[in-house]
Amino acid sequence: LVDVQGVVMEFTGLRALDDVSLKVLPGTITGLVGPNGSGKSTLINVISGIYKPTAGTVRFKGQAINGWPAHKVACLGITRTFQDPRNVPSFTVRENILMGAHRLYKHGAFAASINSPAASREEGQFLGRVDALMKEADLIRHADEAVGNLPYGIQRLAEVARALASDPELLLLDEPAAGLSESESERLGALIRLARDHGVGVILIDHHMDFLEELVDEVVAFDAGREIYRGDMEGMRADRAVVEAYLGKEE
Ligand code: ATP
Ligand code: MG
Repeated sequence: LVDVQGVVMEFTGLRALDDVSLKVLPGTITGLVGPNGSGKSTLINVISGIYKPTAGTVRFKGQAINGWPAHKVACLGITRTFQDPRNVPSFTVRENILMGAHRLYKHGAFAASINSPAASREEGQFLGRVDALMKEADLIRHADEAVGNLPYGIQRLAEVARALASDPELLLLDEPAAGLSESESERLGALIRLARDHGVGVILIDHHMDFLEELVDEVVAFDAGREIYRGDMEGMRADRAVVEAYLGKEE
């Protein structure tokens, strides 16, 4: 689905990604771990078109997309969330999630016949989809509340539901479980599994090993912009390089 080959990302005086390669298949979850500053978010930013890599290629379904602007990448069906949730705070949960579905609007048809039966059928489908997602995320009771007034964990769940509303093929999640309670993490895990079961390829950045253990098919560990481990969770926990990278840098 996505095939990252030899990606290098340099910022002035700093190599944030140093020859990184990664493949994600449809219907699988790849965990991405590593100490702070190891390049995890940078990789998601490169794949989603926010950064243009210094070298290397990113292929999506065979097509090279490195260097494409982020809005064009998003139209392909690559959806990402941010380390700091980016909802519209004054909009309700339902409105925020509905916005995620904008990729699916057939602009021409919808705009030309805004009051037609076809247009309202189309809108009804979107609303049905949004309601189903809110149910999965246990957000129905907050549907009509402004996102900005809700607890942080609920805001994060709303952001992931919004990402899923776009019906992505590739979903990039940047520490979605950070700051979530145990029950919220369970909800989040259920949402991610739901996506995976529908064939979505997922890259999941997280520091919580127990959370990853339940979800990932494969885990990749970074240190200083380089891959230091790839395999299963059990192997990673026992891997000296990973343990040392974490012990050396994490508080
Ligand atoms: P964390 O766990 O703290 O989120 P991370 O693994 O996501 O860490 P990145 O955000 O990818 O780390 O950052 C990797 C390195 O690249 C860091 O040293 C960071 O300061 C640097 N970096 C990231 N974005 C930029 C930028 N736009 N300009 C300059 N340096 C950047
Ligand atoms: Mg990060």
